[in-house]
Amino acid sequence: MHEIDQTGRVTVVGAGLVGSLLAMYLAKRGFQVDVLERRPDMRREEIGAGRSINLAISTRGLHALRQVGLEEEALRHAIPMRGRMIHSPSGELAYQAYGKDESQAINSLSRAWLNKFLMSRAEATGRVRIEFKQRVQHADFQKGVLEVVDESSGSTREVRTPVMFGTDGSGSAVRRELTLLPGHGSAQEQLSHGYKELTIHAGPGGAFQMEKHALHIWPRGSYMLIALPNEDGSFTCTLFLPFQGPVSFESLQTPAQVKAFFEQQFPDALALIPDLVHDFFQNPTGTMVTVKSAPWHVDGKALLLGDAAHAIVPFFGQGMNCGFEDCVVLEECLGRHTRWQDAFEELFRLRKANADAIADMAVENFVEMRDKTADPRFLLEKAVEKV
Ligand code: FAD
Repeated sequence: MHEIDQTGRVTVVGAGLVGSLLAMYLAKRGFQVDVLERRPDMRREEIGAGRSINLAISTRGLHALRQVGLEEEALRHAIPMRGRMIHSPSGELAYQAYGKDESQAINSLSRAWLNKFLMSRAEATGRVRIEFKQRVQHADFQKGVLEVVDESSGSTREVRTPVMFGTDGSGSAVRRELTLLPGHGSAQEQLSHGYKELTIHAGPGGAFQMEKHALHIWPRGSYMLIALPNEDGSFTCTLFLPFQGPVSFESLQTPAQVKAFFEQQFPDALALIPDLVHDFFQNPTGTMVTVKSAPWHVDGKALLLGDAAHAIVPFFGQGMNCGFEDCVVLEECLGRHTRWQDAFEELFRLRKANADAIADMAVENFVEMRDKTADPRFLLEKAVEKV
């Protein structure tokens, strides 16, 4: 049953970072891949500010891109961050290199650019068709049927597929359906902190207004600000702050309060963020969640990958990197098995412990940062270990 027909059709739900890369991997194996994506095509339509404008891609993620010939081009658009630049409340800087030589770096990359690049390269294989504004709302794994809503017309249709992959992110509809089955479960925990993105624009002539090749960190105990460089000379800053409490999103209600907070805590950043008040009140406040689910598959019919299977909080910058690694391991499993079920079981066995471990470590780092605020030296040291 469910033998792998390498030329057959499969369906991927979600054309985010992991779904687009997965489509590429499956196409390279010979499958015809239909991808259903809820959002409009971001290559044609502007999609409103969401989460993390840029992200850090590290060795695991780059390895996954290399396997399908995409690493070089991605790196051409990335900015190597060779160390951390720590900003004290008085604006003093302390630099810590990541390694002994300059090749040891993590890379800042635009999320939108990477997603568009992966979608286009997947389509260029000639075996991937991405349909946009198609939201999966129900899945029947035994019948191999997805119920899909066309977001333009509101009409509903059925898509038949022998095998489906759920790469529809942390709020996965496919996971929701999977966990209704006996023996399946998932746990979700939201952090008490949220995040807000702010922008340091490029200086005259596109100049970087801070050190370009560094990940900038303003560690402040129960909250912190970080900034990653963008290709156009700007930096995307992310403020991590509790939702409630004495210093929190709840306590920063007016422009004066926001300005005073930055003047006191991040004066050097404030000088570079002219749109602070506008951005703070206009940009959405993001939430962060850990999702653990098990098992990630049902028979040889469906498999969850990426955030749909294992969302993690961003304090290690490893969520996408882990999802990309899922694709590499799935490819290896498909090479070893003749039945979907066996490949999915092995993938789950190999990945589950790793995914749980990184999820726990990411939360532990966060808790440590939040709680051990008494000793400024500890704070600084711990904060720099995290990112
Ligand atoms: P997503 O990127 O969420 O994509 C899911 C896709 O599925 C979306 O396109 C969505 O529209 C679509 N979809 C959802 N529901 C449906 C449906 N019902 N039907 C059809 N389509 C659907 N990771 C790193 O590795 N490095 C970092 O530096 C980093 N920084 C981060 C910073 C922040 C602030 C945050 C929040 C996360 C960060 N991450 C980072 C984590 C990273 O963003 C995720 O791990 C990654 O986006 C997961 O990719 P995905 O494709 O699994 O899910």
